[in-house]
Amino acid sequence: MNEINLKRTVLNITTFCNLKCKHCLAFIPYYKERHSMGIEEARKVLEAYFKVVDTVETFTITGGEPLLNDKTYDIMEEVYTYDEQILKSVDFVTNGTMMIPNNVLDLFEKHKQKTRVVLSNYGEHLSKKINEVEEELKKRGITYRISKFYGDNLYYDGWIDFSDHSLKWENESEREKNAQKCLHRVGKYYIINEGELHSCSRGFWRMKNGIIPKKKGEYVPLLDESISFEEKRRDLLTMYGLKSSTSCAHCVGLCNDVPRVTPAQQLD
Ligand code: SF4
Repeated sequence: MNEINLKRTVLNITTFCNLKCKHCLAFIPYYKERHSMGIEEARKVLEAYFKVVDTVETFTITGGEPLLNDKTYDIMEEVYTYDEQILKSVDFVTNGTMMIPNNVLDLFEKHKQKTRVVLSNYGEHLSKKINEVEEELKKRGITYRISKFYGDNLYYDGWIDFSDHSLKWENESEREKNAQKCLHRVGKYYIINEGELHSCSRGFWRMKNGIIPKKKGEYVPLLDESISFEEKRRDLLTMYGLKSSTSCAHCVGLCNDVPRVTPAQQLD
């Protein structure tokens, strides 16, 4: 069977967050029940993912706010055991509202050749700790970058409102034409949520909430033991080859020509 080499996969380790961004790409404020991944669950998910996938260039840990998961250190330690299959970097995305604990920083420092912290900066009234976190990362020589999500230049800093899940594209060629402008689809960024591998968090959310059906070949149930790893690999190859999915028919897409909204607007 063909080798499976992905560019990027994002692992969501918690749906808890201390911000309530109205237009969160992953719909985090709208979860009715929240969950933080424990270490056993993380081990199973990582083992299954790295059996299905041969290599990934960038493996990203996020949430919610991942530092709200009190098992972050243990999960990160487990992620680094797959070092050989992660070709470029282990990215860790945090929102600049809280300090990174020392033991997690020690771990990042130990693996600094492969670690990159991504600080989401939502402005000084929200990301209150970002300067302190940045100082600490600098001091320890840990690579980081800042994603700026505030200011008046919506073209560069704005977000997209994905909350309207109605059918947008009537036929497959229309949906495909739009999806082929979507940075998520074209970039082939995958996400792991609740033990399932999906093409994007919009697709995951729409399946989870019954807006679209769960369709074989449009996601991979990593933890489903009734399906062999060979079959999961086949499902992923099918996903990989799709130019669009059922979810894309309900989506404006992460496209350059879609109007932007002010980022990080907080719900009451
Ligand atoms: S068009 Fe929407 S559903 Fe399809 S890949 Fe892009 S963001 Fe995901």
